Amino acid sequence: MSPATHLFMSWVIAAKTTDNPRDCRLVTLAGVLPDVDGLGLIPDVVTRALGYRGTLYYEHYHHFLLHGIYGGVAIAVLLACFARHRWRVLLLALLVFHLHLLCDIAGSRGPDPDDLWPIYYFGPFNKNVMWIWKGQWRLDSWFNEILSVVLFVWSLRIAVQQGYSFVGVFNRRLDEKFVGVLRQWTAAWKARHTVPK
Ligand SMILES: [Zn+2]
Repeated sequence: MSPATHLFMSWVIAAKTTDNPRDCRLVTLAGVLPDVDGLGLIPDVVTRALGYRGTLYYEHYHHFLLHGIYGGVAIAVLLACFARHRWRVLLLALLVFHLHLLCDIAGSRGPDPDDLWPIYYFGPFNKNVMWIWKGQWRLDSWFNEILSVVLFVWSLRIAVQQGYSFVGVFNRRLDEKFVGVLRQWTAAWKARHTVPK
């Protein structure tokens, strides 16, 4: 699925299972970081655009470097080192990481029905064990879009209640402003729609 869907999904789970913004951020990152192995797309596009012989980093490394158990354990252990509740974050990070894999297996295929994305669970060291599902739906399917919107709205609702949001995964100060605006909008909406007694 798209990085945005992974972000909202992981953040909602993190917000519901942790008790402080730091651990919430770390658990969320466990659901987002696997897609860092897709960043090879940038040099691929740039080298092709500049007329050089195009690199194939995305094709070679996406879903291979960080979408296996080794990448998952490395990500979870690294994130747990910075956590307030290390064991809890370690376990939640592993859970969210595996949810990322399941979501990719379920809904990450290309436009062609045969353009399926496999997961190499023991990659990048072993390409023999491959997970693939023939029912995999398209990355840009309506289901993925609706799922993303639902998770986005849900995460905004939680953010208003808890006082921090998925924006805090990237920048805490920006998150304070973002949640401040959300709370203002919510208060204004309630004031307009509440019938005085
Ligand atoms: Zn992925």
